[in-house]
Amino acid sequence: MLGWRWLSIPLITILLVLAPVFWAFPEGLPAWRSAAIVSGWVGWGLLLAGLLLMIRESWLADGLGGLERMYAWHHWLGMLAYLVLLFHPLALALDGWQESPAVAWAVLSPAQQGWPGWLGWLALLAMMAGLGAALARRLPYRHWRGLHHLFSLAVLLGLGHLLWLGLDAPALWAPLLALAFIVWRVLRADQGWAARPYRVSGVVAAGEGMVEVALQPLGQGLAVQPGQFVLAAFFDGPGFRGCGEFHPFTVSDIGPEGRFSLGIKALGDCTGHLQAVESGVAVRVQGPFGDFFAGQSGPQFWLAGGVGITPFMGRLRAGPLAQPVRLLYLHRDAGDVAYDEELQALAGQQPLLSLVTVASGAGQPDLSPLLPAAGDLAGCDCYLCGPPGMVAAAVAILRSRQVAPARLHFESFEFR
Ligand SMILES: Cc1cc2nc3c(=O)[nH]c(=O)nc-3n(C[C@H](O)[C@H](O)[C@H](O)COP(=O)(O)OP(=O)(O)OC[C@H]3O[C@@H](n4cnc5c(N)ncnc54)[C@H](O)[C@@H]3O)c2cc1C
Repeated sequence: MLGWRWLSIPLITILLVLAPVFWAFPEGLPAWRSAAIVSGWVGWGLLLAGLLLMIRESWLADGLGGLERMYAWHHWLGMLAYLVLLFHPLALALDGWQESPAVAWAVLSPAQQGWPGWLGWLALLAMMAGLGAALARRLPYRHWRGLHHLFSLAVLLGLGHLLWLGLDAPALWAPLLALAFIVWRVLRADQGWAARPYRVSGVVAAGEGMVEVALQPLGQGLAVQPGQFVLAAFFDGPGFRGCGEFHPFTVSDIGPEGRFSLGIKALGDCTGHLQAVESGVAVRVQGPFGDFFAGQSGPQFWLAGGVGITPFMGRLRAGPLAQPVRLLYLHRDAGDVAYDEELQALAGQQPLLSLVTVASGAGQPDLSPLLPAAGDLAGCDCYLCGPPGMVAAAVAILRSRQVAPARLHFESFEFR
C-alpha cells in the first residue's frame, strides 16, 4: 500500500495548484482570456510546490520521503511550471487574435508593452535561463547553484508583474508565499541558521585522498543514526581556512554525546581542500537526513562503490550485525581502498559479515559477474551506495534477478 510519504508530494502539489486557481478563477471572460489567467495561476501553484521542495529541513524531508525525492520533484515541477507559464502569454495572444492579428501581436511584442508586460517576459526569460543552467549537469556545482538563483529572480519579477497589473492584495498570497519559501531556504539552509555548531576534534587518513574527520558538538548535538547523512560546512581554524559551503556527507562513525565522524574523499575543490583540515576548525552541521537502513531484519547484500563505503562503515562500527550480510566493496585500485585494515578486522570479528573487495579499475566495471546470483538474492534486502552510474547499473541487474523494488535501497552520492 502506498504510504503518506509517497503520496505527500503529489497531494501537496495538487493543493497548491488548485488553491490559487480557485481563489482567482475568472468569471464571465472569453475562453482564451480565462485560459490565460488560469494558466498563470497554475504556473504559480507549480512554482510554489517546487519551491517548498527545496526547503532543507530534516522534519520536512522525513515527511516527504527524503531529500533526494524532494529534489527530483523540485526539478520536474520547475520545468512544468515554466511550460505552463509560457502558455500564459500565448493564450492572451490567442484571445487578442479573436479581435485581429495586430492585437495578438501587440500582446506578444515587447516593443508595444509597458512595465507589466516587460516584467512578465523578463520573469519567463530568467526562468528559461535558470532551467537551462539546471539541466547543464556538467557545470561545476558552485556555478550551477549560483545560476539556480535565476529562479528566485524570476519569482521577484513575476511578483512585480502582478503588482504592476494592479492585483488585489489577497490574490498575491501565492507569489508572496513563494518568496517566503525562497527566503526560508536561503536563511535556514544556505546561510546556516538551521545548522548546529561543531568543532573538529580529530582527523585521520582513511585511505588515499580521503580523511576521516571527528566532530564534537559545541551545544546540543544531532541525533544521528547509521546510514544517515548531514550537510556540513567547514570554516576556519588555527591554520586552516574552510570553504564555508554546505556539502552532504554520510556519518561513518557515531560516538557518545552527539559526536560523530565523516569520511571525506577529495572529489572536487572543497573536498580536496578539506584533506588538510585540522583539529579546532569550526563546523556547522545541518540534518540528519535519510533513513538508508530503516526497518529491515533479513539477510542483506551491500554494494559500496568508492567513498560509498561510508554508510556501511557507520553501520558496522555501530555494533555486531543481527543478520547475515554480504558486502561487495568496489574500488579503483589497491591505493584507492578506504578503511582497508579496519574492514578486514571487522570481517574477522563479525561472523555474520562476508566481505569481498574488488579493484575494478577506472571506468564503469561489468557488474554482472560480481553481483550475487538470483538464488543467493532470494529474500535478501540490497543496499547500494556509490556513484550514480554504478547504482543505476546495479539496480537494473538486481531487478533482472528478481529482487523486488521494495527490497532495493540505494543512496546516490550526487544530487542537485
Ligand atoms: C547523500 C550524499 C551523501 C554523501 N556522502 C559522502 C561521504 O560520506 N563522503 C564523501 O566524501 N562524499 C560524500 N558525498 C559526496 C560529496 O557531497 C561531494 O563529493 C562533495 O559535495 C563535492 O564537493 P566539492 O566542492 O569538493 O566538489 P565539486 O567539484 O563542487 O562537486 C563534485 C560533485 O559533487 C556534487 N556536489 C557538490 N556539492 C554538493 C552539494 N552541496 N550538495 C550535493 N551535491 C554536491 C556535485 O554533483 C558535483 O558534481 C555525498 C553526497 C550525497 C548526495
